[in-house]
Amino acid sequence: MNKKRIVWGSILLGLPCVLLPVLLMGYVAWVLNLAAAQQRLESLASVASSRANNTFQEAAGVLKSVAASSLAPCTPESIDEMRLLTINTFAVKSIGYVEEEVYACGSWGAVGHRVTPWKEDFVTADGVRVSLGVQARIVPAKPMMALQYAAFNVLVDPEQFLQVLVEDDVHLMIGTAAGQLVGVSRPGAERFMSRVHLGPASALEDGYLYTLVHSGDWVAIAAVSRHELLLGLVRREMLLLPIGGLIAGMLALVIVRRTRKRLSPLAELELAVRNREFIVHYQPIIDLSDGACVGAEALVRWRHPDGSLVRPDLFIPLAEQSGLILPITDQVIDHVMQDLGPLLVKERSLHVAINLAAADISSGRFLPRLKSAMSKADVWPSQIWLEATERGFVQIESARQTVNQARELGHLAAIDDFGTGFSSLQHLQKLPLDVLKIDKSFVDTIGRDPEASSVTAHIIDMAKSLRLKLVAEGIETEAQLDYLRSRGVDFGQGWLFAKPMPAGEFVGFVGERCGRAAELHGQVGELVGCD
Ligand code: C2E
Ligand code: CA
Ligand code: CA
Repeated sequence: MNKKRIVWGSILLGLPCVLLPVLLMGYVAWVLNLAAAQQRLESLASVASSRANNTFQEAAGVLKSVAASSLAPCTPESIDEMRLLTINTFAVKSIGYVEEEVYACGSWGAVGHRVTPWKEDFVTADGVRVSLGVQARIVPAKPMMALQYAAFNVLVDPEQFLQVLVEDDVHLMIGTAAGQLVGVSRPGAERFMSRVHLGPASALEDGYLYTLVHSGDWVAIAAVSRHELLLGLVRREMLLLPIGGLIAGMLALVIVRRTRKRLSPLAELELAVRNREFIVHYQPIIDLSDGACVGAEALVRWRHPDGSLVRPDLFIPLAEQSGLILPITDQVIDHVMQDLGPLLVKERSLHVAINLAAADISSGRFLPRLKSAMSKADVWPSQIWLEATERGFVQIESARQTVNQARELGHLAAIDDFGTGFSSLQHLQKLPLDVLKIDKSFVDTIGRDPEASSVTAHIIDMAKSLRLKLVAEGIETEAQLDYLRSRGVDFGQGWLFAKPMPAGEFVGFVGERCGRAAELHGQVGELVGCD
């Protein structure tokens, strides 16, 4: 259940983390591409508009200078002057003098034919009258722009207005401030001339990105089609999308690692500690002399949210390694008091043995917690036995301190799995212990392996000489029970009597055993403290 949630959470987090960088880079590529295109169009349009304005100013300057000339019009000197000015001025194709609708003379010489006046498109602030698309007899090849001032005129090739280097993908247009088209570098986007009233502007419209720049009486528009824009975008995306992909990949990796970590046994155990998923089962401890139940060993189980139980040997090693055993011991203490507090108060002869790990023993931090839990439940310290294996007593000095403190408080201290380690005897010598638990492996040898079972006999004798109480673990057969009883072992636990069970069942078991013990001895409650 938890695992599913973690996996789904990671997928839900992962999808945007993977998609966002790619989408973001796509968007950044679009924005950069648009900005770059806008900048390119703007600089092109401003160069073109100032070029147009300069061309016009040059032509207008020529026009004004002939008009202001001191030479009488159409004299050979005046015609020479006009010719020279035409040759020397790049934009001007011809200069003419018109008097009463007669083209009297010009830079071509004396002419004298009649002309119909040109339609004026606009007049500049300094009085130059401008006519676009003029079909002149003098330069008939293509429409010209005519500038008139007083009786003089000049003809300008509109192409001169567009003398700017333009890339193939750009549409460049020059027009008047009123939006009349003067010339285009490449047809297709002329309609944007009608936008001149909007002033300097840039917009993406009608499948084009266009930029409009004014200069004097002229306006230049540079535009690129959406198709060209997309080509630029693809180029930029080829640079930026791999970066987006890389970021997405890195985020995905972080999420996968994080998920793996969260799904790791340690993370699961941490979550279980946080969610208090630990419960305790109780295995009865039997007085071998009369079969009465004298207590129980508290054995922790991890109950998963789906209800399944995990055995302690599957998680205790990891809990010990990671230090999570400390809060687990706390939870065991809490459960023991909650589960069996009332029974222990009622049956003062009953005890519960709690298993401790090396970290508990060396730190001793469980003692205050146990003390306060016991006093809340009104359980006596003598009713709580504390047991640890040799591994638990590894730090012998701090272990001795904790054992001493515990015994001073009234607890009994037991060495568990005795005989399975290397230094069991050393621990017996150095620690003030009360109980020795004979490991199941020795009990198993009884009746099967005479040599090994002689070790069992020695352990029993030694414990007796040290005045330790003896508990035999893992009794499964009547033969084992008979042997242990005949050797005077005090207590035993094992499947022969009962497997570990939930608290409720254990309370029932105690009741039953009290009845049986009472029946055996005919003295109700005397031996096992049953009411
Ligand atoms: P242990 O302290 O030696 O506990 C006795 C183990 O032997 C228990 O296994 C018990 O179920 C099992 N057992 C008892 N009688 C028999 C029998 O007749 N036959 C067989 N085959 N097995 C029997 P369990 O409950 O799986 O616990 C395993 C170990 O986990 C314990 O060994 C103890 O070292 C550790 N443990 C259990 N609870 C705790 C705890 O609350 N704290 C700590 N630190 N360790 C715990
Ligand atoms: Ca134990
Ligand atoms: Ca044991």
